[in-house]
Amino acid sequence: MSSSAWPVIGHEWAVLSLDRAVLDDRPAHAYLISGPSHIGKTTLARSLALALNCQSTDSARPCGQCRSCQLINAGKHPDVQLIEPDGARIKIDQVRALQHDLSLRPVEGRYRVAIFDQFEVATTEAQNALLKTLEEPPDYVVLIVLASDPELLLPTIISRCQQVPLRPLTIAQVRTALIKKWNVEAGQANLLAHLSGGRLGWAISAAHDPSRLPARAQYLDDLQALLKADRVARFVYAEDLTKKSDLARDAIDLWRTWWRDVLLTVSGSSAELINVDRTAQIQALAQHVDLNQAKAAADACGRALWQMDRNVTARLVVEVLLLDFPVVRGA
Ligand SMILES: [Zn+2]
Repeated sequence: MSSSAWPVIGHEWAVLSLDRAVLDDRPAHAYLISGPSHIGKTTLARSLALALNCQSTDSARPCGQCRSCQLINAGKHPDVQLIEPDGARIKIDQVRALQHDLSLRPVEGRYRVAIFDQFEVATTEAQNALLKTLEEPPDYVVLIVLASDPELLLPTIISRCQQVPLRPLTIAQVRTALIKKWNVEAGQANLLAHLSGGRLGWAISAAHDPSRLPARAQYLDDLQALLKADRVARFVYAEDLTKKSDLARDAIDLWRTWWRDVLLTVSGSSAELINVDRTAQIQALAQHVDLNQAKAAADACGRALWQMDRNVTARLVVEVLLLDFPVVRGA
């Protein structure tokens, strides 16, 4: 398969279809690449920009060697732009500045490519401004919109983009990539692959950030203690945790995987646990909660993440969440 030239691990069908469009020289004017954070959206978008502008005459494009590939990989190609949130939002001024650039023909490459990271945090004004470009894009423009939650985008944006939804990689894919490409030791690679839930970017950053695993262990220990704690103690914890709201999101995300594992165990499923290193604790807890409680707790975590992404006050979200967790005595 010719798609192997793309520097992307997994996401085979997405690579195959994008590569085909590039080879036929018929890319869509706009793509929406969606999927959970750290799953590989930016890597796929950058690879598409590489393939669109690679100067190699070989069929194995992108080559990674030519001037264009090198400039894009260094973030310095004049025709490839990455637009990231300015503070918490993507603002209308950023979209307008980009529109000016897009009105000019490419300087160096065949296509002008604009990649919008986390476009779900764009203001409504910014989204409306981008809509204009999506309606009448110049031939040489390819827009790539990235979003972990496309529900937050205007429906008119979604309908004008070709959709590329990404799904988690398999645990084996993540494990193999960690061992072969990032030289992670096999045991560690196995644990991180499970914990990653198929998000390779998360696994790579956890492999290189020694503080990740102790933080995870702490949040899981906290959860064990909270299940025995009363209402007041849960409120105190919510206040502490949300002094840094970015940490709260990580904790809730982690607790959701925990309750998923408990739910699977209670229901007698043979599916693999995510928190494999905590199997004994999960089995012990599964003796003390029923299916409805485990499911309610997992659903509550999902709801809390949904609310945090919509800027509901973090402290309130965590307080409500912790009250939704069962009280477990004797686990
Ligand atoms: Zn190249």
